[in-house]
This record gives sequence, structure tokens and C-alpha cells, in this order.
Amino acid sequence: HPDTHRRALRISVIGCGYLGAVHAACMAALGHEVIGVDVDARKVEALASGRPPFYEPELPELLSEMVATGRLQFSSDISDAASATVHFICVGTPQKRGENKADLRAVDAAMTALLGIVKPGDVVVGKSTVPVGTAERLVEMMAEVEPAATLAWNPEFLREGHAVKDTFHPDRLVYGVPDDAAGARTTSLLSQVYAKALAEGTPLIVTNYTTAQLVKVAANSFLATKISFINAMAELCEATGGDVVQLADAIGHDARIGRQFLNAGLGFGGGCLPKDIRAFMARAGELGVDQALAFLREVDSINMRRRVRMVDLAREVCEGSIVGRRVAVLGAAFKPESDDVRDSPALSVAAQMALQGADVVVTDPKAIENAADKWPDLHFVDTVEEAVTGAELVLLLTEWQQYVGLDPVELKRRVKMPRILDGRNALDSEAWRSAGWTYRALGRR
Ligand code: NAD
Repeated sequence: HPDTHRRALRISVIGCGYLGAVHAACMAALGHEVIGVDVDARKVEALASGRPPFYEPELPELLSEMVATGRLQFSSDISDAASATVHFICVGTPQKRGENKADLRAVDAAMTALLGIVKPGDVVVGKSTVPVGTAERLVEMMAEVEPAATLAWNPEFLREGHAVKDTFHPDRLVYGVPDDAAGARTTSLLSQVYAKALAEGTPLIVTNYTTAQLVKVAANSFLATKISFINAMAELCEATGGDVVQLADAIGHDARIGRQFLNAGLGFGGGCLPKDIRAFMARAGELGVDQALAFLREVDSINMRRRVRMVDLAREVCEGSIVGRRVAVLGAAFKPESDDVRDSPALSVAAQMALQGADVVVTDPKAIENAADKWPDLHFVDTVEEAVTGAELVLLLTEWQQYVGLDPVELKRRVKMPRILDGRNALDSEAWRSAGWTYRALGRR
């Protein structure tokens, strides 16, 4: 990766979670001098020794390599960011407890901390996903302190599980900048940061703050809608005897529709889509245009109904009751190639089944530790073999490759009853049926 012949910049990254840690490591790989700052001392310690505090493919190698060069450092002291010129805000913006709104306390705290160290000519770059209007408010905060730095809004679109690749090769770059000389200077500075991606032909959209903030939530709303659309079709298929996988294949061949993000199943989760569409709705309400996003309420409910349907289907194949049934749950992460269990559909179904009296055993290749933090009362095991031994029902809830590739013949020897529910329409139904399994899936006969 190293590409030191382009002009190197001094960069700080405030907030080193799933987004910030990857961003910091990738910026260092592009040749920049990077200081990552986080309030979580344990995270800083792990990162500084070259170990990611979470699972993300390609990150361990990249991080240790970059820390070893000395170009990438981590600190819990914001004053270590004082020598940087470009400061990225990558802190969390979770859903407020008991509300749909975004909790912006970390963003405000990061900005307050930065205002104590920025120099004239510095650029503060917002990357966190925020309600539209936040950047404008941060500009006011910045204006109260002299000498003022310039704010840019540069939303991030990386996907967990592909975060390193997505950071090096984004589908597009968006800069929200003011429409003046400082904005022009900021655009050119950001284009030095991203020189490599731009040289490779990455499309660039330079716009105002408002549009830049909206782009991110619009993209997430569209993706969530696409998933809920196909899951609504799955409900129709369940009511009529249709097959949602064939339906998705058929409509997906239409280039205007496209097959991506049309995988019917347990629906979306994670630290982004659910809270982002909810925060967007809440913001629309504050702006007096809640009607415009009323459809997102349906998108959210369709998504949440899939989890209920999964538990109902489990009950159905267990002759009407899951009480006392040994149930093996494969998957706890909200999606494969991640250890993230924030709003995980898999974990939510596992917990519901346990609360309703099933004897649930959960396994996951990477997410057990995070899952056990969230649901300490659930029973977790390390391997599929342990999970399925004696099971009366197996649920595939996160489509990790190693689960999709399981051998139905081999697995049948371990279970008590060969019954499997494919929550992700990821398995070869014919192979499982011909091995003697009762195979059921969402949206299929
Ligand atoms: P995260 O919870 O993994 O990381 C946030 C980090 O910020 C934590 O390490 C936390 O300790 C730190 N932090 C909080 N307050 C701080 C402060 N005042 N100063 C310094 N550090 C502070 O969250 P994440 O998944 O990395 O998401 C961060 C932002 O990026 C969110 O707005 C999210 O919506 C957005 N985003 C995330 C992804 C993704 O795939 N995870 C993708 C695109 C955008």
C-alpha cells in the first residue's frame, strides 16, 4: 500500500472505532502522518500496539505494518493532534436511548476538544453520520473561537467486512465545503488526502454542507428500502406460495432494479442502517417534513417483522412450541465478516427464542465476545459442532461462508432432529433436503 511519493499531510482522526481505526490506518498507508485519538484508553492501547480492538478483514496486517513505520500513532490525549492540519471526526452517533433521534454528544465533545488545538488554516472534516443541520451548527461553534479553522463534511460509505478496501477504493467521494476561498482551499487539501483514489478515477462530488450530510442518510435510506422491499415481497410469497429468491433473481435481471441488496431474509441491522433511518425520520419531523419520510417507518416495521416471523416459523416447524427445545443458532454478528452485534437481527432472534423458553445455544466465528457482553444470559459455544449436538432445530441467522459451506450429511449425524431454518436464503435448499433435512426459509415454499 505505501505511496509516499505524493504530498504527505499531517492528519488526526478523532474517534477510532470501526470507522476511525480503519480510516487512520489507511491514511497512514497512503503516506500521511497520522495520529488517532480516542477517549477509550483500552482501545488506544490495543491500536497503538498494532492490534485492532475489533474484527475487520485486512486490518490487523495493515495496522501493525503502519504502526511499525512510526507514521501511525494513537493517543487518548487530544493535544497530540495539535500538529495535524486535517482533523477527521469519526466518533459514534448512536440512537438516543428511548428516542429515534441521533445522540450527538460525542460529535460535540470532539469539536469542543478540537477547538482547543486547531490552528489557522487547519481543516476539520466531519465523517460521522449526522442529522442534516449538524455541520451548520458546528460551524457556529467554530466561529466563536479565534482563529477559526474551516469545516468540511466528507461522509463515509465504507462497509464493515470490506472497510479497508472501501477506504482505498471508494465508489465516490463527497466534500461538503463553504462556497468561498476557504472552501476552495479545503477542497484542494482534501484532494491531497485522497490523491490516490482520485488519480484512479474515483468520482468526486463537491457540494455544500447540507447536501453532503443528506447524501449519506439518503444512501442508507435507499439501501434499507431495497432490503425491506424484497422482504415485503417475501411476506407476499409466504401468503401465496411464491418463491422470493426466484422473484428477486427475475426482477434483479432488470438493469434498472439490479440484483444487489435484494436478498430476502432476516433483514438489516448493525450500527448504521437502523439508527440512521430512524434519526433521518426524527430530523424530518423537526424540519416539519415528516410526511416525506413516512415510508421509512414502514421500511423499519417490515424489517422488524422479519424477526418475529422467524420465531413464528421456528414454532411452526417444532409442532407449535419451542419451549424446552434445543435450538442451535449459527451467527450472532449483524452480518458476516464482522464482529459487530449492534442491533443484530441474529442476536435479537436468539434472545427472543430464549425468552420464549427455548434452550438456545449460539455460535459465531468472531462475535461471541461482543454478543455475550450484550446478552450474558445466552449460552454461547465456540464451534458449530458444539452448537448443533443434540439440536432439535438449527437456525442459520448470519451467512458466514463457513456456515453456508456446511455439509448437511455430516451435520445430520450430530443433531437430534434434522430441521433447519435458513434465515438468510443462503443455503442450497436441494442439498439439505436430499440429505434428509426439513428445510424452511423466509419467503419460500
Ligand atoms: P464506534 O462506536 O465503533 O466508534 C466510535 C468511537 O468514538 C469509539 O471508539 C469511541 O470511544 C470514540 N469516541 C466517542 N467520543 C469521543 C470523543 N469525544 N473523542 C474521541 N473519541 C471519542 O462507531 P463507528 O461504527 O466507528 O461509527 C462512527 C461514525 O461513523 C458513526 O457516525 C457512524 O454512523 C458512521 N459510519 C459508520 C460506518 C460503519 O460501518 N461502522 C460506516 C459509515 C459511517
